[in-house]
Amino acid sequence: MILIRPSHEIITKIDGDEICKRIEAAGRTCYKSESKITIKSAGPFVSRIIKSGHHSVIEHESISVRFICDRGVTHEIVRHRLAAYSQESTRYCDYGGKYTCPQVTFIIPPWIDIPPGQYGTKEDVPIDGNSGHYWAWSMLDAERMYACLRQHEWAPQQARAVLPNSLKTEIVMTANIREWRHVLKLRTATAAHPQMRELMRPLLSELKDRIPVIFDDIMAK
Ligand SMILES: Cc1cc2nc3c(=O)[nH]c(=O)nc-3n(C[C@H](O)[C@H](O)[C@H](O)COP(=O)(O)OP(=O)(O)OC[C@H]3O[C@@H](n4cnc5c(N)ncnc54)[C@H](O)[C@@H]3O)c2cc1C
Repeated sequence: MILIRPSHEIITKIDGDEICKRIEAAGRTCYKSESKITIKSAGPFVSRIIKSGHHSVIEHESISVRFICDRGVTHEIVRHRLAAYSQESTRYCDYGGKYTCPQVTFIIPPWIDIPPGQYGTKEDVPIDGNSGHYWAWSMLDAERMYACLRQHEWAPQQARAVLPNSLKTEIVMTANIREWRHVLKLRTATAAHPQMRELMRPLLSELKDRIPVIFDDIMAK
């Protein structure tokens, strides 16, 4: 089995200035104040729009993000309805065919201190002070049982029944900026699941760097 940490990649080419300019051009339609557009007006305009709660205006811009995380986390992500998703399918992806060696990838939970890497047997797994080795052993068992079922002619969509929440998955999420603000507020807060926060906090941090006007007021607690 392979153990990895979760990650994200912003797929959309982001130019914060251009995004603000396009939002300003759309938003000023409401007031017919296009004559007030200057080389520096977009940022302050977008900032005012957000502060005033006129949030439909920022829906004009969308961002796509690829997440690599576990399936428990994606079960939660897809509850956000105002987004498009494409997710790795456990029906069609084969994690260890009849004639191939199983090689299932799992996501290490953040409270476990086991290094990323490839582990063949239980003896390879270091003992973790937080009982994480029991988690890793059960991943090895799941991988072994998945391979066993595949060898007994179960199709991937049947054998997936023994794969756990910790299975690595990829999902591409596209949402408009208003929805991203909503998602990031909810999913970086202390009430969110630790694995969700582990995934979303670096994304929020990157978005704050790249489009500060739009994301700076969202505080990851
Ligand atoms: C800490 C936490 C714990 C949770 N625990 C559970 C749980 O135990 N069980 C569970 O089932 N879910 C749980 N959820 C999921 C939660 O109930 C929502 O399904 C999820 O957060 C999606 O958020 P949302 O509904 O606000 O918005 P989205 O689907 O992202 O939509 C964005 C916003 O659009 C508006 N909107 C969207 N659709 C409608 C609609 N049909 N009608 C009116 N307004 C709409 C709302 O204002 C909504 O906030 C949890 C979420 C969090 C953050």
